[in-house]
Amino acid sequence: MLAEKVKNITVNEYQSRPVVVQESASVYDAICTMFLEDVGTLFVVDKHITLVGVLSRKDLLRASLGKQALESIPVSIIMTRMPNITVCKQDDLIIEVANKLIDKQIDGLPIVVEVDYGSRFEVVGRITKTNITALLVDLANDEVI
Ligand code: ADP
Repeated sequence: MLAEKVKNITVNEYQSRPVVVQESASVYDAICTMFLEDVGTLFVVDKHITLVGVLSRKDLLRASLGKQALESIPVSIIMTRMPNITVCKQDDLIIEVANKLIDKQIDGLPIVVEVDYGSRFEVVGRITKTNITALLVDLANDEVI
């Protein structure tokens, strides 16, 4: 019964809002945003809000190990960039997201919508291991319909 419930739950039921930075932002700006917004993954967008990259905690930590001033390093040179970003859509199943997180060994995925006939993605949400933990708690408390 539990397995049947889990197989019906979609991303839009457990998503969080995305936190984004512009591709022109510096590593210093991105670190500040990560602390202020209290998230572990930032999405990088261009001026049309198109998804162009992902920044994890360790991406920023690695960039901070060098001697260069963090204000002078643009995030675009350290981010994981498209087309190497694993994404999901609002109506994907959570269990598919969980499989992707395990398979790719990452903490979260941007939730995207396709625009301009699928030529680019806009970020509309974020789903992370924390959201999936919240689902687990709801299941344990029998709060999933
Ligand atoms: P951390 O690097 O802090 O352990 P992650 O495990 O999420 O955090 O990230 C590992 C690497 O995978 C990082 O280089 C990051 O840029 C990249 N990454 C994170 N999320 C995604 C994603 N959705 N698609 C592709 N790469 C990602």
